[in-house]
Amino acid sequence: MILAILEIKKMGDPVLKQICTPVDRVTKKIKILLDDMAETMYKHEGVGIAAPQVGIPIRAIVVDVGKKRFDIINPVITERVGTIVDSEGCLSFPGVYGEVERAEKVRVEYMNRYGKKKFIEAEGLLARCLQHEVDHLDGHLFIEVAKNITADKKNRSDNE
Ligand code: ZN
Repeated sequence: MILAILEIKKMGDPVLKQICTPVDRVTKKIKILLDDMAETMYKHEGVGIAAPQVGIPIRAIVVDVGKKRFDIINPVITERVGTIVDSEGCLSFPGVYGEVERAEKVRVEYMNRYGKKKFIEAEGLLARCLQHEVDHLDGHLFIEVAKNITADKKNRSDNE
């Protein structure tokens, strides 16, 4: 299998503001997309990536905070417990970080790449990452809610 590194859409690209479309059926094309999204995420040392970030406005995300890769289709956050503020970044905003309040624990229901209904109960970085990526599917960007935003000069000039 040949994996491709996809171009990551950056701040200001209208695809990042779209409401993404649910996936009816996991086609071969979508499986390839998930694999390419994962490869792109690993290349950029990210922990999560959403399909709109590679220009495809469908409800699919890939998450890996270091233990296991999750390919997540049509995710719905069905439970949120507590709140916690921590630092966050985004592959579409290289070098930009900010503090975002998120639920401490979440339950996410979704369909996996084999079309099976699954759920994750997560806390810590995985919970934060899931919330960040699900937000992308509704065109919500962390920068819109982040506080104490910092931008690394080198990356910022690269993107101007
Ligand atoms: Zn992001």
